[in-house]
Amino acid sequence: MARPNVTGDVESGVIMETVRAPKGMNDLFEEELATWRHLERTVRDVFLSYGFGEIRTPIVEEAELFVRGVGEGTDIVGKEMFIFPDRDPRSPKQLCLRPENTAGVVRAMIENGKIVADAYWKVFYLGPQFRNERPQAGRYRQFHQLGCEVLGYAEPAADVEVIATAHTLLSRLGITDVALHLSSIGDAADRPRYREALLAFLRPHEASLSEDSKRRLHTNPLRILDSKDEGDRRLCADAPKPIDFLSDDARAHFDAVKVGLERLGIPYSIDPLLVRGLDYYTRTVFELIGSHGLGAQSTVIAGGRYDGLVTELGGRPTPAVGYAGGVERLVLVLRALGLAAPAATPALMLIGADQAGHARCGELAFALRKDGLAVEVDLRGRSVKAQMRHADRAGARFTAVVGSSEIERGTVSVKNMAAGSVTTVPMTADELARAVRGA
Ligand code: ATP
Ligand code: MG
Repeated sequence: MARPNVTGDVESGVIMETVRAPKGMNDLFEEELATWRHLERTVRDVFLSYGFGEIRTPIVEEAELFVRGVGEGTDIVGKEMFIFPDRDPRSPKQLCLRPENTAGVVRAMIENGKIVADAYWKVFYLGPQFRNERPQAGRYRQFHQLGCEVLGYAEPAADVEVIATAHTLLSRLGITDVALHLSSIGDAADRPRYREALLAFLRPHEASLSEDSKRRLHTNPLRILDSKDEGDRRLCADAPKPIDFLSDDARAHFDAVKVGLERLGIPYSIDPLLVRGLDYYTRTVFELIGSHGLGAQSTVIAGGRYDGLVTELGGRPTPAVGYAGGVERLVLVLRALGLAAPAATPALMLIGADQAGHARCGELAFALRKDGLAVEVDLRGRSVKAQMRHADRAGARFTAVVGSSEIERGTVSVKNMAAGSVTTVPMTADELARAVRGA
């Protein structure tokens, strides 16, 4: 959709160019943010109920962190990072806007001395990420992720608990029609054998691969399995699959994960084409894929085990499992399901009938808000009629008119807007709060 990039003042004929937000980076307003807050609150509630602690890491990191922690052959590092030089003349370092949060979390844990012998941690995060990709519905250049990392547990029970948090999150949000796709890509030691088999299969078909996959053939052939190109997908249906190259240990781990999910009644389907674009993944991989018309943007949550990452970033060997979910995509799904949160509404609108009334409304509102009640007052001294319209539009549950005669009597009448009923109470913040809360 083309949007105008100039504003015109028709009267004077002056046309000024306006500065626009960078493409793929969105302004968010209250209408949408009520749903965001509902989602964010639910995310925090769910992770806290599972005993996770929150972590927040810088939005800017050294680019090198992602070269090592995500991998040079990935789309994220190869073509999607926003990189810029550090302006400190003594530091030749390249900085970047973080494209994902896992590498930052692991760096922070190592740097702050939390990765010691036998350490275990369960952390979650929520925050903006940046990738320079082509914007479309559900795909942006600044987007937000929720996610978690469980560090220090090699046990399949950890994979099951991580997947369970995602399942609980979606069910608490009321999101249905999301399928759990599950697979195992084995250990690093299984990888070379599989890679050889895959390359032997793909090489004779090199000419018919998509341009992206031709490049991946030399950089990151596993990624060809989750290519979005139709031709690539048809070809890969017959390709050897990582799940058929598992060591005995990796297979036993995978079997235990499946049993654990079955015990919790979490349905899944095995998807042998599942791989993650990040080089540090081992064993379990999973995606939660919705069927809400988002096309190639249907994956709302993706994750897996990454036993190799902590050492890759210089920490002592520490197994890990986690995932990241797209906040914008979950908000789109909530909207598609009619589950967008309603706008916040005031409990009470205080309406000033005259100058003294307006002043008193201001004082009462100040006290009531301190008490935690959502109260609306008019700031312009408008007519009672105009304020009534305002109360209506804002969806106030109660209204109370305050003028000189109410002040003289020391009472105020509180109207329940839905029921039409009126109760008269002494004009104090406490009595008003009781009238509103008690109903
Ligand atoms: P995709 O295949 O959709 O590009 P990905 O493999 O790059 O996803 P991850 O790096 O695993 O995605 O990120 C986890 C989740 O973050 C995705 O499943 C998605 O919900 C969300 N996500 C990733 N990139 C974007 C983006 N550019 N805009 C919005 N959400 C995104
Ligand atoms: Mg991507």
